[in-house]
Amino acid sequence: MVNLLELVLPEVLPGFDFYVLPDEEMPGMAGVTATGGQQTIILSESTYIGLCHGDREARHVAAHELGHLVLHSAQTPMLAKRTRNDTRVDPEWQADRFADLWLVPTDGVRKCRSAKHVAAKYNVSDELAERRWTEVKIEGIQGELFE
Ligand SMILES: [Zn+2]
Repeated sequence: MVNLLELVLPEVLPGFDFYVLPDEEMPGMAGVTATGGQQTIILSESTYIGLCHGDREARHVAAHELGHLVLHSAQTPMLAKRTRNDTRVDPEWQADRFADLWLVPTDGVRKCRSAKHVAAKYNVSDELAERRWTEVKIEGIQGELFE
């Protein structure tokens, strides 16, 4: 994922910028994505270092920011704001969902034996693996019932 941010996106996406800032310059934030015409992802230094070492939380932060880039960079900041009425139009929910699906593809989960297997295969947190394992199992059951 570091290669995607540092090498691929700058080459194929005109106007894309990627920065790493010292943690003290991003208090309380692991990453941020500029939307509203800009296409910039900024990660905190500790998130970046974690990402370079395959840290599971750092991978999810980077995937979440990539979700904002893909889903929200064409929106004005006002449209990308959180609403209370429907979580599906909440940009934070959308970016989290993008990260979940991108890091743990549904077809791959179907080939796993357990949530632990999902976590190991996709190098994601136990919590994310359990969430995807559970929802893919439920989708599978629904598919069997309604096909
Ligand atoms: Zn976000």
